[in-house]
Amino acid sequence: MAIDKLEQLRKTVVRGAQEIYSKGLVEDGEGNVSVRINKNEILVTPTSTKYNMLSPELIVHMDLEGNIIGSGKIPSTEVKMHIAVYKDRPKVKCVIHNHSPYISMLSVLRKGIPIIMEQQMIFLGGEIHCTEITEAHTEEMGTSALKALDRNNAAILANHGAIICGKSLDHAVRFSVILEKMAKVYWGALQIGDPLRVPNENLEEHEKMFNSLFACYPKRLRKT
Ligand SMILES: [Zn+2]
Repeated sequence: MAIDKLEQLRKTVVRGAQEIYSKGLVEDGEGNVSVRINKNEILVTPTSTKYNMLSPELIVHMDLEGNIIGSGKIPSTEVKMHIAVYKDRPKVKCVIHNHSPYISMLSVLRKGIPIIMEQQMIFLGGEIHCTEITEAHTEEMGTSALKALDRNNAAILANHGAIICGKSLDHAVRFSVILEKMAKVYWGALQIGDPLRVPNENLEEHEKMFNSLFACYPKRLRKT
């Protein structure tokens, strides 16, 4: 890949990371953002990211075997989970992991989010699932994240946070914001009563929109 294209992608990672920071989805030193360069290589934020200090040269260039290529700092220890998603989902161009507050609350309850609003179907793919409990920074966490993602663009990581993926960085940032909003609405609704699920018959068109515009699950999960 041309060096200027790589530089551009490094800047894209910085932009995405600073966007999720400015939206309050991560605190300094936590969370991570990666983008795909090609079939076998990615760029990922460094470990213990200080979001306001992040610059393109600090972004780490890696292959999907976990090797560091060229310059950059040490990658996030959570990169194994990003790699698991890129390996399983060829369409994915960006992975975001955060510890946003409302998702974190649901994560400690190990609770998913039923389809409570139509936009959840359109952008995220439907009911959000929570993983089994696994140890952070392990390959097992990647496997369990893939299982919870199923056909969706986001999942809750038990007692930890969220994983979000998309066909572009802008998609993944947008999905991260929507996921946190869904968690906040669900949490708030639970304080008042029993949240009601959107009926299936209202979701068919929204599912079509998800599949044509935003879905990035692998072919084997296509419904026949
Ligand atoms: Zn984490």
